[in-house]
Amino acid sequence: MKTFHHLIVEQIQESDLQQLKGHCFVFPTKRGGVFFKRALLQKYGHHDFMLPTIFSIEDFVQRMTGLSITDELTLLFHLFKIYQKRDNDLEFDAFYAWGKVILKDYDEIDRYLANAKQIYSDLQNIKEIDHVFGYNDEFREIIARFRTLTEKQDKTKLLTEFLKIWKEVGAVYEDFQGELLKEEKAYGGMLYRNLASVLSQDHFEHPFEYYHFCGFNALSKSEEVIFDALVKAKRAQLYWDTDNYFMVEKKEEAGDFMREYRTKWPDSIWFDADSLSDPKTVHVHAVPQNMAQAHLAAKLAGELIHQGAKPEETAIVLADEKLLVPFLYAMPLHDHKVNVTMGYPMKSTIVFDFVLCYLELMRKAQTTDQGLVFHTYDLRPFLSNAYTALFHEGIYQQLNEWFVREKKTKIGLNELLDKVKSSQLQALLKAGKQWEDIANALKAYLTAAFYDFKEKDSGLTDREFIYFFLKSLNQLNDYLRQKETFSLRLIKKIIQEHFRAVKIPFEGEPVQGVQVMGFLETRTLDFKHLIVVSANEGKLPTTRNSNSYIPYGLRKVFQLPTFEEQDAIYAYHFKRLLQRAEEMHFVYDNTTQGDSTGERSRFILQQLKRYKKLEHYTILEKSYEGLIPKAINSNEISIPKGPEVNKLLSRFLQGTEEGKFLSPTSLTNYITCPLKFYLKNVASFRELDDLDEDIDARNLGIVVHEVLEFLYKPWLNREIGAEQIRLLKGLVEKQLIDSLERNKIIQENQQLSGRDLVTKQVMEQMIQKVLDLDAQEAPFKVIGLEAEEFETLVAIDGIGKVRVSGTIDRMDEKSGELRITDYKTGKVEFVSKTLMYKDPQAYIDKYFDDPKYKSGFQGYLYAVLTKGHFDLPVKVGITSMRKLSEGTQWLRDGQTIPADTITMFEEKLQNLVREIYDPAIPFAQTDDLKRCGYCEFQQLCKRGG
Ligand code: SF4
Repeated sequence: MKTFHHLIVEQIQESDLQQLKGHCFVFPTKRGGVFFKRALLQKYGHHDFMLPTIFSIEDFVQRMTGLSITDELTLLFHLFKIYQKRDNDLEFDAFYAWGKVILKDYDEIDRYLANAKQIYSDLQNIKEIDHVFGYNDEFREIIARFRTLTEKQDKTKLLTEFLKIWKEVGAVYEDFQGELLKEEKAYGGMLYRNLASVLSQDHFEHPFEYYHFCGFNALSKSEEVIFDALVKAKRAQLYWDTDNYFMVEKKEEAGDFMREYRTKWPDSIWFDADSLSDPKTVHVHAVPQNMAQAHLAAKLAGELIHQGAKPEETAIVLADEKLLVPFLYAMPLHDHKVNVTMGYPMKSTIVFDFVLCYLELMRKAQTTDQGLVFHTYDLRPFLSNAYTALFHEGIYQQLNEWFVREKKTKIGLNELLDKVKSSQLQALLKAGKQWEDIANALKAYLTAAFYDFKEKDSGLTDREFIYFFLKSLNQLNDYLRQKETFSLRLIKKIIQEHFRAVKIPFEGEPVQGVQVMGFLETRTLDFKHLIVVSANEGKLPTTRNSNSYIPYGLRKVFQLPTFEEQDAIYAYHFKRLLQRAEEMHFVYDNTTQGDSTGERSRFILQQLKRYKKLEHYTILEKSYEGLIPKAINSNEISIPKGPEVNKLLSRFLQGTEEGKFLSPTSLTNYITCPLKFYLKNVASFRELDDLDEDIDARNLGIVVHEVLEFLYKPWLNREIGAEQIRLLKGLVEKQLIDSLERNKIIQENQQLSGRDLVTKQVMEQMIQKVLDLDAQEAPFKVIGLEAEEFETLVAIDGIGKVRVSGTIDRMDEKSGELRITDYKTGKVEFVSKTLMYKDPQAYIDKYFDDPKYKSGFQGYLYAVLTKGHFDLPVKVGITSMRKLSEGTQWLRDGQTIPADTITMFEEKLQNLVREIYDPAIPFAQTDDLKRCGYCEFQQLCKRGG
């Protein structure tokens, strides 16, 4: 197979070799350059000549401008300083997230040579906003995005703040450029703009005699100007890689840019493949679940090599990079050399979790006369991380048993050190609360972990992750060292935010072994055998993520890229990748679990439609039922629904003696992980550490619910006014003491002091605050307190009627509406309202896909349970005890829930229950390892500590 790089080399004659040293070849990626070098040496390696300079485009602009691209954090600090001059009260903490968006917008503005001043023209009032942003929906979306970044909820404030930023962002742009140039710093876009402008000047001193730009597509405006200037000066050649059919067929978006370039630069060199005339074999594999995809891909790769495919001509392309680690675990590495050329998201690594858990532990540790005191609530996540157990096996289990046995909620440092066997861990725990000491301890620990893996010749990927993390931490530390005023909370947030977007580049010998890569890393590369994994709609191409404050309308006017171009870019990369392949495997997840759509990518559908008309194409489609037979990873646990399990499941049926039902919590357990649901709610399996919920948090929930119930009980079925609620406030303390005694949290007549007193005060404040909120809402009629009488039945053929029920904390009637309120002590998250307006079904689906929306899930479930019992429109809200200042957070922005939405939810709920009882679907482990983070069955599943 002749690859694109071989074709470029063919253009170089033997007689040209001596001139090459003054030439420069530029590729979209570094990898492209490496493959070109190999192809060049394959042909001319035995000749005596000096290699040309080979660059990625990013390195090229740096070399040409003599400036290097400054790292994001430094840029952010500079930008922050400028903003701070305009707003003294601005804190880095609040600025960090939206500052990143602005930085990205500036970068794009420069790459596309747009006029920042005009883009950020005075948006003085709402009228102008409407005019400029055009779509109100979009503006709402931008504000919503801003809201998620600022954690501010008050809408008016939010809008004012957003407009304030908008008003200044144009002027800040200029100051920012000036500041950076003074210090010889720059972001990427600045360099592109700079090069585009200097190249057209006559006196520009070229560092190279001749330039070759190879394999580009969808050029930014600045790239276009750069290429054009050099072509016109007869100093450059352009090489394009295309396929006949997408150049000829006008409706083919893959050829959108290329057709334009063919007219613009007719003298370029075009490599037009004619892929449709060559015979190919195409396999489409429908696999249930993410993990199974990784296993299948590993199996297919092994088989291909076994059948004689050359490893370096074989690529596994992961459209979802999260599958990298599962794939590497599944791939028999001893048999095959694997080269990973992709960035892996730092946020999905164990080391990232480890560092965050550790920082949280140290941040929340209290300083007392006897030294640091840790809360078991913070210790548990830290102890259960796999890296904590590296030097003390089983530490989580041992210490947790001790916490439970001794009813410990807090532990002093010395007491803890006695239980910890490893000196490395001891050093971590002893680090104290100063960032510098913490950073040193972390470095020492992770370095020890690195060498430990190395010594055992294991954890190859872990070593890569640790190495990269330490490198980044050192860099980060250089800044943090000068910021003594930064609290540990802020440092943790910076680390969290900073690493969230970071990808770990895997660096190896890229031309050897089976190639594993992300989709964008395939640019300019060709492989004979291709396995594309996560070939699902939504992953290929990825869902559009417009992390920008510049709306669509302005983007169009100023010729900045929009999502339409994004699709054309993806289409080109995908179709180009296929053009020289002889055998292709597309693996996709056909379930709708997690973030999977269950559908194959539209790119695959388009190609299959085209291929099916061609006789010399062989298309084989295969669907895998259940998990892949003989699980490749023997650690996988899956519980089939045999007679024993069915017997246990039958306890939730109507008419059984035990009176059991599926509760909202058990159903969210199922959504989190079917195996967890089975272990916890079906088999009632209790790990010792099942008591791991923080005792204080549990008590708090019980007591606060109980006191509010008792206070309002006399008002059941009566209307209560603000004045009467204020009178209830006087009864809180007495009811609280009663409840604390009833629940044996304090002894009868106990004189409260220390922790008990604080606990009581916290609870009291919460209850008082709830009553204050209620007084503002009064009058209303109390119609239910801790109500347990509502249930819905799901009929399943041949099995019976499954009961779904729960306890509704409070129901009241106000202004002709039924209001259902749930008190929560944990975090509350709802699915975005934008989605609710855009796609109601997808909105409801989210509640069934992602357990983080469990509060909303519960809310809708209550609306289903009470359906038909009241002749009133229903509204559901969550009162978060930890965020009482925000008041009750109402689902659907405080609107009542339309009947058809309740029905939509009910239908999904019935499907979920039917799935639980479906004999063909075993209780399998979740694919999402993050969900295992706080699961009490980690030990059993060998996931985590
Ligand atoms: S550890 Fe993970 S896989 Fe195992 S039960 Fe818990 S959530 Fe499921």
